[in-house]
Amino acid sequence: MTDHIIVAGAGLGGLSAALAARRAGYAVTVLERAPHFLASAGAGLTITAPAIASMDALGLEAETLAMSDTAGVTPLIHYATGEVFYTRVVPTPERDEDGPRYFVPRVTHRADMHKLLLDGCIRAGVEVITGAQVVDFTQDANGVTAKLSDGREMAGAILIGADGLRSRIRAILHGDKEPNHTGAVAWRTLIPAPLVADLLGDMTIATHFGPTAHFMQYLVRQRTMLNCVGLIKTDVHAQDGWSTPSTNQELADQLAGWHKGLLDLVARIPEGTLFKWPLLDRDPITEWVDGRVALLGDAAHPMLPYYGIGAAIAMEDGVILERALTTVSDPAEALKVYERARVNRASFAVLESRRLGEVFMGGNVLDVITEPLHDWDIYDYDPRTAALH
Ligand SMILES: Cc1cc2nc3c(=O)[nH]c(=O)nc-3n(C[C@H](O)[C@H](O)[C@H](O)COP(=O)(O)OP(=O)(O)OC[C@H]3O[C@@H](n4cnc5c(N)ncnc54)[C@H](O)[C@@H]3O)c2cc1C
Repeated sequence: MTDHIIVAGAGLGGLSAALAARRAGYAVTVLERAPHFLASAGAGLTITAPAIASMDALGLEAETLAMSDTAGVTPLIHYATGEVFYTRVVPTPERDEDGPRYFVPRVTHRADMHKLLLDGCIRAGVEVITGAQVVDFTQDANGVTAKLSDGREMAGAILIGADGLRSRIRAILHGDKEPNHTGAVAWRTLIPAPLVADLLGDMTIATHFGPTAHFMQYLVRQRTMLNCVGLIKTDVHAQDGWSTPSTNQELADQLAGWHKGLLDLVARIPEGTLFKWPLLDRDPITEWVDGRVALLGDAAHPMLPYYGIGAAIAMEDGVILERALTTVSDPAEALKVYERARVNRASFAVLESRRLGEVFMGGNVLDVITEPLHDWDIYDYDPRTAALH
């Protein structure tokens, strides 16, 4: 038996788990397939209340607040007229007993959140190895051995598969199945704010809603960049990954008939900065753990982005893992505690995100948008205090 924990994948989930396991007193190695980390990887990220609670549990709350931007009030804009038809009230950060809660308090660039977690891991003494693709593992009563594509091997007490939507570890445990394709695609870009300042006015955050698409924009990086994400039901094909390129014309074609202000914004997206990404999820599973191997983050519960909460739920996984490792001395036993505490929470989020997507892409969202479409309870989870059973 060793006191070494191996994490496959250095995304937001894997790094949260690695830092959490280190805080629980284990030596930790993260094996990341990519050859290096990019400061520009990904786009905007909403930081929901459970994400802030998770970063607090990992000792990074102050830095999270410092590097992110407040979200503010979100006007909903009619796709054809360009007029604000509803304003979603975002209350103050403090939880007010009489008032609504603070659901999406902050926004940031995913790469900034990633760097914060990576720096936190390095400071804590986590070993992070890039260019290390896990392709297989073996396990017995004494430990687990991760096998890499180049023949290297690494032994540990447990292996955390945080290797994303197309997880190799999950494929070994549950079979190599294709995720669910929803027929929707996300177009994502970051535009330098000065390029579109005249179009934004004083709007730092807004969502344009059409019958089968919506387009969200918000300022990040101290309001120097405008993050844009259009979630659109479409026949256009996109491959997984942060880097499948698109063109302004392709996006504009998707938004034919939408108001001029938005189309002007699309026309100003700098060349080479617009990417598309298919919206995929998987049906919930209840077996995340097999002996000394556990799934975490998108490897366990990839969900559609309609609540902007997938990364938060991956980070929650890490926090609960730390609590389980702290509570139970045998790490393999701790994985069972982790699984029991997490499956219902994550499965609810997967199914609820799918339901909200069906409403948003169902064709009549404009008729019902002012109804309480969201199940706000999804944001009402605190991994610092959630029950461990
Ligand atoms: C369009 C879109 C918008 C979103 N917006 C938000 C949002 O605003 N807020 C939010 O909270 N969530 C959002 N999400 C969800 C969020 O991005 C994911 O849930 C989260 O990033 C998952 O993190 P992860 O670490 O589990 O997986 P990943 O980020 O996929 O990381 C997996 C890592 O594992 C590595 N890897 C893969 N295979 C191997 C292997 N065999 N060996 C070693 N390493 C491997 C990969 O290179 C990668 O670094 C969004 C998702 C989408 C698609």
